[in-house]
Amino acid sequence: MIRLKYFPTQDYSFLLDENHYVYDHIETEDSLHIYIKSKEHSCACPVCGKMSSTPHATYKRKFQDTPIHCKQTFLHANVYKYDCENPECDCKVFMEDLPFAKPSQVRTDALNTLILATSMFLSNEGASKVLSLLGVQVADRFHLLQNLLGYMKDIFKEEMPPQIYIQDGNISEKAPEKILKEKTPEGSFLESLHYDNAPPVDPSGNVIAYDNKKHDLNSAQYQHQEKTREKNSN
Ligand SMILES: [Zn+2]
Repeated sequence: MIRLKYFPTQDYSFLLDENHYVYDHIETEDSLHIYIKSKEHSCACPVCGKMSSTPHATYKRKFQDTPIHCKQTFLHANVYKYDCENPECDCKVFMEDLPFAKPSQVRTDALNTLILATSMFLSNEGASKVLSLLGVQVADRFHLLQNLLGYMKDIFKEEMPPQIYIQDGNISEKAPEKILKEKTPEGSFLESLHYDNAPPVDPSGNVIAYDNKKHDLNSAQYQHQEKTREKNSN
């Protein structure tokens, strides 16, 4: 008789992490429901940071996850709340931190990434079509994207420089050089002023010549020119 070399696995840790395991699943024609349970483990209090291994209660969360075999996929998680073990801390009970989803999110981080990546380069309708073909149902994609982008902005805010210069489609390190351009008055505006630009005349009708030269005889430039004139006249 030939001995079996292969055995079915019970190890689904690749799907989650070492603190969470799959205990059941239900598959329908177009959806997949995976039931997961938290193992009792220690968790850091989000307020004081002290590790706690005193479970307080369990509670349930439901997430949409990245689709498996193009079926809309849900994680039904049965997870723990922990008591903070620090008597000084204001936080008495906290929810365990999940490695695959942020607090108060109804989608896993992986699904949010997939939606964002798909939506980034496609139109609204294109992205909706591709996502629904993949098995992702999003009721209100516009608000979802707004939330995700807001979330990403918070992440990157501290890394972003206060100003970004873009020149010829490329991001440049420094501000582009200023282009000096002489301003010309607007002709139609000047005409609307009815400004008399004729040269001024004295009572006898002779044009009064104004000159705009500087007559500072003590200036270094004037004295230098005077010396040069003297030299040249000799
Ligand atoms: Zn605490």
